[in-house]
Amino acid sequence: MQILHPFAGSVQQYLDQLVDFESPRPKHCPQCEASKPLTGHGFYTRTIINAAFDGEIRVRRYLCQACRRTVSLLPEFALPYLRSSVTMIALWLLARLLPASAGQRQPPPPMPYQRGQFWLRRFRSQAEALCAALAHLATPPAASTFAQRALLMLESTGWLAAHRFLFADLRQHLLGWPPSLAPAGRRVALGPVAAPA
Ligand SMILES: [Zn+2]
Repeated sequence: MQILHPFAGSVQQYLDQLVDFESPRPKHCPQCEASKPLTGHGFYTRTIINAAFDGEIRVRRYLCQACRRTVSLLPEFALPYLRSSVTMIALWLLARLLPASAGQRQPPPPMPYQRGQFWLRRFRSQAEALCAALAHLATPPAASTFAQRALLMLESTGWLAAHRFLFADLRQHLLGWPPSLAPAGRRVALGPVAAPA
């Protein structure tokens, strides 16, 4: 299971403090609620693409001695299953869906067209659910589409604060979980269904 590490610095600052397993150690297991602190369990490696960084980062992993499941501590600039950082995706979606306000922002970094289209498709399909969830944090503004409204709410809340709320409290993914992991980003194994009597 992935949970978020509320890490506010740059990718490089994140990499510099990675050997410290102690300070971000989860106090209890999020999967079985055992109250014993988790033990360090190495790292896994993933890619992150940011304006100033394009490469692999390590992500801390912990093990729950009670249920023997692992928990990984994803830095909050990253989204599960997507290589680009939250900020990269935000800049691209804003430029594409709210071009009128583009003058007030930095332009999105260049990237393959197909990747942007993929984000756009996923964001649009999830925009209505995002608006409903983000209504806990921001007043829904007038907008002509759910995607534009969700973007305005993400802007007023702050993308990282919104990501933290969606992911930590609701297990919701900014761009939606891949179908194999829905709902809530966990692998689901459906048991056999009893035949109706
Ligand atoms: Zn556990």
